[in-house]
Amino acid sequence: MKGKLEPSVRQALVEEGKNLKEGLIALEEDLVQLTDKLQLEAQSIPNTTHPDVPVGGEESSVIRKEVGSQRNFNFTFRDHLQLGKELDLFDFDAAAEVSGSKFYYLKNEAVLLEMALVNWAITEVSRIGFTPLVTPEIVRSSVVEKCGFQPRAQNTQVYSIDNSDQCLIGTAEIPVGGIHMDSILPDSDLPRKYVAYSHCFRTEAGAAGAATRGLYRVHQFSKVEMFVFCRPEESDKCHEELITIEEELYASLGLHFKTLDMATGDLGAPAYRKFDIEAWMPGLDRYGEISSASNCTDYQSRRLGIRFRPSPPDPPPPNTKKGKGSSGPTQFVHTLNATAVAVPRLIICILENFQQEDGTVVIPEPLRPFMGGLEVLSPKT
Ligand code: AMP
Repeated sequence: MKGKLEPSVRQALVEEGKNLKEGLIALEEDLVQLTDKLQLEAQSIPNTTHPDVPVGGEESSVIRKEVGSQRNFNFTFRDHLQLGKELDLFDFDAAAEVSGSKFYYLKNEAVLLEMALVNWAITEVSRIGFTPLVTPEIVRSSVVEKCGFQPRAQNTQVYSIDNSDQCLIGTAEIPVGGIHMDSILPDSDLPRKYVAYSHCFRTEAGAAGAATRGLYRVHQFSKVEMFVFCRPEESDKCHEELITIEEELYASLGLHFKTLDMATGDLGAPAYRKFDIEAWMPGLDRYGEISSASNCTDYQSRRLGIRFRPSPPDPPPPNTKKGKGSSGPTQFVHTLNATAVAVPRLIICILENFQQEDGTVVIPEPLRPFMGGLEVLSPKT
């Protein structure tokens, strides 16, 4: 009959089809392994750096701005651990039993203070056009890697969840970066700005020797993080905007701090440029980092697959065919992240800098409306 194959030919074709199918499965497995290898290789390649970034290690970072001055105490001041004891604000001992070292319970007014810092930051930053978010705190390892963190490295900062492909987030930068994964954002929506609240989880592997007492370096803390998706040509401007927001927030709390343009050796892989803010912490007798603002250019967006399609520069001339000129090639967006409030270190600053001789602590004015009007923390007798 027409179209019918000889049994031997048919058998040979069936065989060939089977072989192709098996070959395809093997190739797909190879592709998964190669993509994985490529991802790991890509992690070892850092971003380029802004031409103005100082070259060198931590000591080469340059001060951009200084606000306020160190407080001169005319009495013997207490560090935040001592103040916490007298004001009954923390329980490190129970946390060590329940969870391990570098964990803490916040108690009494410290709980109100954490909530107030978070609420105040979200309120202030969303007021100027940032969309508020509460993010997932467990994310896929692949998203963590695409944001430039290394869950599989030795001494990783990232907690991975056993028997899963998921991790706990070290910062809301990861779930917010991932929110537009594999998508093309409308040009008219850029820059798109978020302010996100989350807990952060960090192994702090390799942090031995660094300031580790009390709240300074802990495994879990609350943070409000700003994140921006923008066009490449506006990312330097957005970076300046983010650092200005941070400076205004901390100045309004009355903190003494300096802003640093971080040197090449201190940027980490994803950042093209990074501005850190260090505030005066009397208990440490030095400045301690309270925030960090990074321009990651297209380092994260390339890995996360986040693009936009630039609008044509001018309106199309009359008689242009429909659609012509409106669908140019896509480009990767730039991403930026910046701390609005990292709660534990701000609690340290507030307690230590605003303590009084009688053991009370004055609450900064902007936080009072978020603490039921509370103005002063007093020792429990
Ligand atoms: P990063 O996301 O690493 O830039 O950190 C943002 C901010 O979180 C830092 O500037 C610190 O104020 C704070 N921070 C980072 N790690 C810890 C930690 N282990 N414990 C408490 N605060 C931290």
